[in-house]
Amino acid sequence: MSPRRNRPSGAGKTPPPRGTGDRHGLERTENWQGESWVVRQISGSAATKYYRCPGCDHEIPPGSPHVVAWAQDGTVDDRRHWHRACWNARDRRTTRVQRSRNAPRY
Ligand SMILES: [Zn+2]
Repeated sequence: MSPRRNRPSGAGKTPPPRGTGDRHGLERTENWQGESWVVRQISGSAATKYYRCPGCDHEIPPGSPHVVAWAQDGTVDDRRHWHRACWNARDRRTTRVQRSRNAPRY
């Protein structure tokens, strides 16, 4: 028993390693392509890894504020890290879902 801890019922229970950010009102839900997407704002101090933005296919370096978005009925594996500008312009920036509307092939 540690005298420094204030929790009386801390037996075997450890707080989640990254407990910040979940309940800070940084998440919102947006509709895109007929699905509900959860969009979470990531502050620069919370960005500690390199991520690849699916909008521009460039890396998001650590320390860069960005957003994480995933389909609400998807899984954790579906989470994608985006530059904020790319997420806001996602209809124009998605390179993975190219429909080539204005370039028909014959
Ligand atoms: Zn990007």
